[in-house]
Amino acid sequence: MAFKKILIANRGEIAVRVLRTCRDMGIESVAVHSVADEDSLHVKLADESVCIGPAKAALSYLSMPSILTAAEISEADAIHPGFGFLSENKEFAAMCKEWGFTFIGPSAELIEKMGDKIYSKKIAVEAGLPILEPILVNGVDSAAIITAVEKMGFPVLIKSSAGGGGKGMKRIDAIAELLPSLELLKTEAKAAFGDDTIFIEKYIVSPRHVEVQIVADQHGNVIHLGERDCTVQRRYQKIIEESPCSLLNDEKREEICNSAVELAKFVKYDSVGTVEFIYDQESKKFYFMEMNTRIQVEHPVTEMRVGLDLVELQIKISEGEKLPLTQSDVNFVGHSLECRINAENSETFAPSPGEITHYYRPAGFGIRVDDFIYSGYKVPPFYDSMLAKIIVHGKNRDECIRRMERAFSEILIGGVDTNIALHQEILCDENFRGNNYSTSFLTEKLSKI
Ligand code: ADP
Ligand code: ADP
Ligand code: MG
Repeated sequence: MAFKKILIANRGEIAVRVLRTCRDMGIESVAVHSVADEDSLHVKLADESVCIGPAKAALSYLSMPSILTAAEISEADAIHPGFGFLSENKEFAAMCKEWGFTFIGPSAELIEKMGDKIYSKKIAVEAGLPILEPILVNGVDSAAIITAVEKMGFPVLIKSSAGGGGKGMKRIDAIAELLPSLELLKTEAKAAFGDDTIFIEKYIVSPRHVEVQIVADQHGNVIHLGERDCTVQRRYQKIIEESPCSLLNDEKREEICNSAVELAKFVKYDSVGTVEFIYDQESKKFYFMEMNTRIQVEHPVTEMRVGLDLVELQIKISEGEKLPLTQSDVNFVGHSLECRINAENSETFAPSPGEITHYYRPAGFGIRVDDFIYSGYKVPPFYDSMLAKIIVHGKNRDECIRRMERAFSEILIGGVDTNIALHQEILCDENFRGNNYSTSFLTEKLSKI
């Protein structure tokens, strides 16, 4: 069924990103917004908009009845969840179906299976993928947990099974920290994700984050669009992403990409999705970490290399169409790099909301900017601090780094603090340029500043 109208259940940059594709496809778009987002760009650019509640996300962007009612009164055919918010909420996907709207994403059953870190590890093992064996914690007595952890050896990582966005994780280096941290994380996980299931796995000391973009239709066709390296992180949150991962040779790349395809086939996945791996640079082994059943923040680096609009593919798959290409049709060109621009204090990393007094957007050959800000826009204090993503494409990694430096030499954002200076420092860092770094790169770098 071809959609005539899509409601976008999100805000900010991803809402703008999705409605642009809707317009390209001749599909009408409906924006939803909280009272704090009346002046947001997604509201201005959409064909229609509906106010769905107060500033607090729990009462607006996370309110399923409000969003579904908005879809009903605007007579939308389908709902695009974006990322964050309700994008990986199985109940929301099920309710969309119940109310007669197509949820643009996989089924509620698939979200349930793959959205839970413990459950998805079990499935990954069945599909033949390597994992880091979890030590289950809930309902297990302390002595047994201690024995298992001692056998595993420190450092270990406590993770929340329902977690996301780098939240609900803690590295443990000594036995004395273990039990109190488990209790604390259970409480935190319950508060943040409504689920106190946590587990422990081996902490890999010097890893790279490598993930594979999957595209699967409802007819059993699955392809990958290559891998992304998202190793530059702060507190387990990505801030720079690129494709390809220059560390992998062709053999490793094929192995990791094919295993992601295997997993998607095994669970009969449909829609776009990302299979995340942790790559141990010492042993040169990779382990399945989790699957994200949605479009990701960093999807543009893949789009730049393969020349495909992932949101368009996602929409067409939900319409029931077959994939328009096979694996051998995918043409990987050059390199791509993305920097996430956040409104945050450069020293404390605290969010820096307020009025954007002026904004000059970089442009030119090989540069794409996905954003939602404009001069005079007031960044509300209630939501994620990401303002924009600068994405560059080039022949190779070095050219991308130089091009990104050009973008930063042009960009001007006035009125709020941003992490632009931090990005500039990373880009000229010898280890970053030399491809000699791990996920602890930024923490180590910041401790030296
Ligand atoms: P991962 O969870 O693997 O880091 P992404 O890099 O795609 O995946 O990031 C998703 C994160 O983006 C969410 O966990 C959330 O913190 C953040 N987020 C959610 N909604 C928005 C939004 N509208 N704009 C910007 N960031 C958002
Ligand atoms: P989230 O759902 O928050 O994205 P992930 O399981 O994807 O959680 O992990 C987020 C990040 O945490 C990874 O990109 C990686 O940097 C780090 N991480 C996760 N598991 C491990 C591990 N076992 N050892 C070391 N770092 C890890
Ligand atoms: Mg992740």
